[in-house]
Amino acid sequence: MEDKCGVIGVKLNSGHAAFPTYYGLYALQHRGQESAGIVSFDGFKQHTKKGLGLIGEVFKEDDLKQLTGPSAIGHVRYPTYGSINKKTVHPFNVNTRQGFLALGHNGNITNAESLRKDLEKVGHVFTTDTDTEVLVHELARNLIKADLVQAIKQTIERTQGAYSTTLIYNGKVVGFRDPRGIRPLCIGELDDGYMVASESVALDVVGGKFLRDVKPGELVILEETGLESRRITEKTPAHCFFEYIYFARPDSNIEGRSVYKVRRKLGELLYDNHGVATDLVSPVPDSGRAFAAGYAEAGNIEYIESMMKNRYVGRTFIMPSQETRERAVRLKLNPIEPNIKGKKIMIIDDSIVRGTTSKQLIDSLRDNGAEEVHVRIGAPPITSPCNLGVNMASEEELMASKKSVSEIKNAIGADSLEYLSLEEISEALDIPKNNLCTGCVTGNYPIK
Ligand code: AMP
Repeated sequence: MEDKCGVIGVKLNSGHAAFPTYYGLYALQHRGQESAGIVSFDGFKQHTKKGLGLIGEVFKEDDLKQLTGPSAIGHVRYPTYGSINKKTVHPFNVNTRQGFLALGHNGNITNAESLRKDLEKVGHVFTTDTDTEVLVHELARNLIKADLVQAIKQTIERTQGAYSTTLIYNGKVVGFRDPRGIRPLCIGELDDGYMVASESVALDVVGGKFLRDVKPGELVILEETGLESRRITEKTPAHCFFEYIYFARPDSNIEGRSVYKVRRKLGELLYDNHGVATDLVSPVPDSGRAFAAGYAEAGNIEYIESMMKNRYVGRTFIMPSQETRERAVRLKLNPIEPNIKGKKIMIIDDSIVRGTTSKQLIDSLRDNGAEEVHVRIGAPPITSPCNLGVNMASEEELMASKKSVSEIKNAIGADSLEYLSLEEISEALDIPKNNLCTGCVTGNYPIK
């Protein structure tokens, strides 16, 4: 299973594309902390540096100096429990008879197994069980008989699932997005070239100018002379709504929308349609902040931090056992007692997955003297796993897969609990429901 990741591609007229790629990857670190990699091309040779860990741990200054050339792609990968393996670090390279090809993607290819079997029959040998390796081999096979654009077209036609991809082929840098545009991908202009990236924040950090999102089913070649674009195929879009709710950085713009503003608007809807009288409203840091700010403004209620986040504790979400996850939430979020004692508190978070965070938080707010603890969630209940690029939890682990809202309220110990509906999400995004991927909250996926 592949996971939420971040991708970048850079083409400069001259100089070192690895540098803007590296800084861009830093801006996308939230999309993947397990591993990072950059591949560059100097006109003759491809250079690669990949490793496990955060960007600051993987790349030293000397590594960047050796990643020479005006073309580069980069990738950060999201952690999954139990899958840390050096061989699976993107980008994936293959040397074809036609040249050097390297590729990294964000998403999940749902027909990877059958593509792999076809490729094995004609002699392709795989070193990992990842869908990315299948994608790179499929493209390499198509490149034997076709030019790059045709080969990508054939690859897109045969590949199902979610895949925002960047690749480098003999120095050409390309970005393409699956026909439904499930995961984000945007294009920007740099002083001396172009960049494609999962999120616009990658452009911001290198002083780039956001041009537009890559369209679903579109491929964009970054040329010295400009951008060459082909719309390979068009299907009903199915943008992942959870990018807006949780995954993307709030300072990113996706499909023409500020993620921060969307979250604030969702917070306003939480107050307007689901509000209740409390002394204050508090976010679950950091993911609940913009929602709580919107709620506070709509209800003219005091916004106050009732817990502090220890930013040096990593993600609690992927820890292997329930006990370690619970301990980690306590480590990560510590209550600020004077803001809590004797208060009726509204807590806002983006989502409840297993329920660990909410339960632990409510317990500790009550231990610190909270009189009432109400919870509002900026998304509908998550009932089904994501098979299109995000590591959620298994269906059995998802609290809402078996419990009703009132059972969840009791299980986490809240005085009241309400979620936003899909209709409210669609209203805040101003995107029709059928143009969103809502698999995790409806069980209906845009792809089999
Ligand atoms: P849980 O404690 O299992 O209910 O998870 C809920 C918390 O995890 C919320 O605070 C979310 O911000 C966060 N979260 C939601 N989805 C994910 C995900 N796919 N990966 C990591 N964290 C997540």
